[in-house]
Amino acid sequence: MRAFGYVSAPDLPTALGAVAAGARPLGGGTNLVDLMRDDVERPETLVDVTALPLAGVDELQESGGLRIGAMVRNSRLAADRRVRSRYPVLAESLLAGASGQLRNMATVGGNLLQRTRCPYLRDHAAACNKREPGSGCAAIDGIHRGSAVLGTSEHCIAAHPSDMAVALVALDAVVEVQSLRATRRIPLAELHRPPGDTPHVETDLAPDELITAVELPALPVARTSRYRKVRDRASFAFALVSVAAALEVRDGDVVDVRLALGGVATTPWRAREAERVLLGAPATEETFRRAAAAELASAISRPQNAFKVELAQRTIVATLRRLAAERADDAEGGPA
Ligand code: SF4
Repeated sequence: MRAFGYVSAPDLPTALGAVAAGARPLGGGTNLVDLMRDDVERPETLVDVTALPLAGVDELQESGGLRIGAMVRNSRLAADRRVRSRYPVLAESLLAGASGQLRNMATVGGNLLQRTRCPYLRDHAAACNKREPGSGCAAIDGIHRGSAVLGTSEHCIAAHPSDMAVALVALDAVVEVQSLRATRRIPLAELHRPPGDTPHVETDLAPDELITAVELPALPVARTSRYRKVRDRASFAFALVSVAAALEVRDGDVVDVRLALGGVATTPWRAREAERVLLGAPATEETFRRAAAAELASAISRPQNAFKVELAQRTIVATLRRLAAERADDAEGGPA
């Protein structure tokens, strides 16, 4: 591991000053420190931001939503009773991620900025446009079972690894970022960039900006929401496919819906094509299948990850089927 400088920021201006001077923010360190050990990340200085007053989950009085500080630990957010009751998809996505120990360390801001687990990112003997721009992509003709089928380019097919971000993009979350210059708010759906021809540029953040909070809007449909994750083993594994969904059904028709996918795309993927098919249509198996097929119609798969196209459709249908059944149970006063 290369030598690096370390400063602990006691307040936000100090942290923003350090970031503006080129320091990398250090939250729980569950991804960044690993990548430093593998000589993929080479920051000259880390600024520890865990002591900043950004560890609260607060009501947004005017809008009725929640403001989540960037330093809130994943385990704490998953346990928050307001999150569990008003945004269960978010709590479930957090509990589906990593391990208990990692969730105790990982922060909300860091979770959003974690990098792909494509094996070639850490393999210095292989070409990787993310690690070394212009070097090529070893995954395309190499190991790509875990790679994306949506949002890819000829320069990178790496899947985005976060579970939490998939739930947040379904919930229309907004990210607050600050710098010494300004504070701005970015819809989460616009934070992560598709790889295009610059896969090493992964987010819309400027080098001097720090994520300070995530805001959730009041969203009644989110009370009936689920996160379903399909993976190779029951815990501590990244998603092959995941689905974040919220569904409201009235008189048999879908009157509100949010849908997002993980494990299959280069960014947390809002499934807008599927939402278009679902909205206003009967909440039936046939509609769910049509919606899933519409979303995956643009998928580009390769030999090892072609299974994800069918798996994603089945997981979408299964998640919507369960939510529709839960709504029906609620309407009738509980399951029989
Ligand atoms: Fe690198 Fe992306 Fe190709 Fe993986 S898929 S080798 S991260 S460029």
